[in-house]
Amino acid sequence: MVSPNSLATRRGWHPAQACPWRRCHGNGGDGRPAHLPADSDPGRLLGGFGMGRMLAVFDRFDHWQVGYVFTKGTYQQVKAEGMEKLRQSVLALEPMLTKHVESLTDWHQMSLLSVESSHCPVWHKPGLLLIGDAAHVMSPVGGVGINYAIQDAVATCNLLADRLREGKIEETDLAEVQRRREFPVKFIQAFQSFVQKRVIASVLQSSGPPTIPLGVRMLFKIPVLRALPSRLIGFGIRRERLADPTIFQNPATN
Ligand SMILES: Cc1cc2nc3c(=O)[nH]c(=O)nc-3n(C[C@H](O)[C@H](O)[C@H](O)COP(=O)(O)OP(=O)(O)OC[C@H]3O[C@@H](n4cnc5c(N)ncnc54)[C@H](O)[C@@H]3O)c2cc1C
Repeated sequence: MVSPNSLATRRGWHPAQACPWRRCHGNGGDGRPAHLPADSDPGRLLGGFGMGRMLAVFDRFDHWQVGYVFTKGTYQQVKAEGMEKLRQSVLALEPMLTKHVESLTDWHQMSLLSVESSHCPVWHKPGLLLIGDAAHVMSPVGGVGINYAIQDAVATCNLLADRLREGKIEETDLAEVQRRREFPVKFIQAFQSFVQKRVIASVLQSSGPPTIPLGVRMLFKIPVLRALPSRLIGFGIRRERLADPTIFQNPATN
């Protein structure tokens, strides 16, 4: 299987900083305005794939987060080919970024994200509980890492807040968090692995025009099925809600 590496623009940029990738309809206060071409369609999904590369663009409202995906182990080759080649490759996949790629001048503007997917067999020891990335590293497919970390935290709060307040917490209490969260994590990791093997790997291996598997095309064509991937990614297979939403309202009394 070809597993990917990805270059992601650094998180946390916002309009006050010079952000080469941000969606920019005005200057917004930085010295490098990057207006979109006048014929741009702001509602269109950006990104694409082909020639063994893939570009994913996520709208973060005040900036774009851009993932450039290539075969694992070839980062040094991508780097050796140089920044101009990277810019050209990005443009070949998404011509609308013509102005934006000009601001891409330094490798430090990006983070290398080595794609991993794994989970710890045991998330707890006496006095220690692992949740989020510490318990399970998620592949970037679907961008679910933050969701799953927050869902773990909500489940932990629901299961352990009272016992923590009473100061009576045992390792068996910590084990309850793993019992609740492990299946949803393994399920989404299996889904990510399927997408990685069936869609991303074939894109990265092919040098020709991309083809999308029939099953995936059907998923987006049939209205009742179309919402499934976004629901799965957004909520997971086990929704977590704070049992007591007032718990953080007055920390002094908790
Ligand atoms: C480049 C990149 C892009 C990503 N993009 C996305 C995305 O678009 N969507 C998405 O859902 N996920 C994304 N992820 C994954 C996402 O960031 C993680 O899944 C998520 O942040 C996990 O949350 P966490 O709370 O478990 O860990 P973290 O967010 O890593 O939080 C751990 C915290 O612990 C702190 N810490 C570490 N060691 C110590 C110590 N010894 N003492 C005190 N504090 C310590 C760290 O500073 C950090 O603040 C991305 C990851 C990377 C690297």
